[in-house]
Amino acid sequence: MDFQRLNPITGAVASTAPAMQAADIPAIAHRAAAAFPAWAAQGPNARRAVLMKAAAALEARKDAFVEAMMGEIGATAGWAMFNLGLAAGMVREAAAITTQIAGEVIPSDKPGCLAMALREPVGVILGIAPWNAPIILGVRAIAVPLACGNAVILKASESCPRTHALIIEAFAEAGFPEGVVQVVTNAPADAAHVVGALIDAPEVKRINFTGSTTVGRIIAQRAAGHLKPCLLELGGKAPLLVLEDAELDQAVKAAAFGAFMNQGQICMSTERIIVVDAVADAFAAKFAAKAKSMPTGDPREGNTSLGAVVDRKTVDHVNALIDDAVAKGAAVIAGGKADSVLMPATVVDHVAAGMNLYRDESFGPVVAMIRARDTAHAIELANDSEYGLSAAVFTRDTAKGLAVARQIRSGICHVNGPTVHDEAQMPFGGVGASGYGRFGGKAGIDSFTELRWITIETQPGHFPI
Ligand code: NAD
Repeated sequence: MDFQRLNPITGAVASTAPAMQAADIPAIAHRAAAAFPAWAAQGPNARRAVLMKAAAALEARKDAFVEAMMGEIGATAGWAMFNLGLAAGMVREAAAITTQIAGEVIPSDKPGCLAMALREPVGVILGIAPWNAPIILGVRAIAVPLACGNAVILKASESCPRTHALIIEAFAEAGFPEGVVQVVTNAPADAAHVVGALIDAPEVKRINFTGSTTVGRIIAQRAAGHLKPCLLELGGKAPLLVLEDAELDQAVKAAAFGAFMNQGQICMSTERIIVVDAVADAFAAKFAAKAKSMPTGDPREGNTSLGAVVDRKTVDHVNALIDDAVAKGAAVIAGGKADSVLMPATVVDHVAAGMNLYRDESFGPVVAMIRARDTAHAIELANDSEYGLSAAVFTRDTAKGLAVARQIRSGICHVNGPTVHDEAQMPFGGVGASGYGRFGGKAGIDSFTELRWITIETQPGHFPI
């Protein structure tokens, strides 16, 4: 049986995909486990060659990816192209690390003992990816695990099954052995059962999940029952701090990009702009003007800054956040509520504790401006959140910027840059309700290999008993 994904703007069928059931999972997990040893045994350059082909095969599907992302999630062509570029880069970075999965020789106190720490593939890794940056996050869930010699199962998002299936088609064309790369698609109503069966499958040894904090908790608890390690990349409420000596025009541009790229539906999206009082009015005027200059449109009709949000639920959620903030004394200084998925870039000033917009992730094109007395107060406000993924601070004094960055509780912080910034080789991940574990770079190798201690005794041993 198939299920349908509808275009969020038109309501027309955007894609159909198999509605797999929990009962289908054991065979898939078994196939992955059977494929694993031969893939793990391949040399690093053999794995690299296939990954390089996968990167090219992804890029060759450019038009299909743009069409799928526009249709399934209402994304702009720009967002789709950015996704494809970064995702192909992630696969090439994964290809590059196959020869860098190194261990070490550790001095042993035992005479004649050669002690090593060796990295070995784990087995079958389950990657669960969301819809919002679908190529990047779908690829991220599987590329480094594959480079490390694991077999993977990608659990696609119900909101973009075609986009995620295109990734798997590209990887299949690249020549991964049968069973090394598989995809699972399911109807929304079956998500809990299908994901549960995947986590329970004895062949699945580790799980990486990118998605909401609510579902992240469910997954971590289920995995804990089997003592299976998880890497969780969850929600965010990224703060961008504008200090008294900030270069305001740069801060405005970075904040607008961070808040409104992909309609604010990025885990690193700027959700809170914390501005020191001395420059708050000047910043607010410039930022509101910038937000008003960013049009929202149907991405299929041409170039537009903002496209559609993913569904009506997001519209209702963002509208409710605006209503609640205004009722409690905040002021809308650009944009406002919407009655369709084409929502305007919205700025709400004078947001304060007690308003839902102060605390709750909007995951939409609305950003809160929060005013701070001074730098210390700005840091305090930035840390007044359960989330901690990305953050940013704007100041002309880079030494101060670094000092502030180090006082913010988050996995990532940029001085004089936007909160939205991702590169394949960087350690990416959060703290608190934003999850734990790291994708990317050396940290990614650590996440997807088992570090083992192996010794060789070269002299006869002396035993006390
Ligand atoms: P979601 O958590 O609703 O869904 C993610 C996946 O969870 C889906 O594939 C779905 O099948 C599965 N799922 C849903 N209900 C389940 C259940 N009861 N049990 C088990 N699995 C279930 O997230 P989403 O709406 O796809 O994505 C948006 C969220 O993802 C936002 O909160 C955003 O901040 C976060 N996100 C985080 C990052 C990051 O790197 N930290 C990146 C992108 C998105």
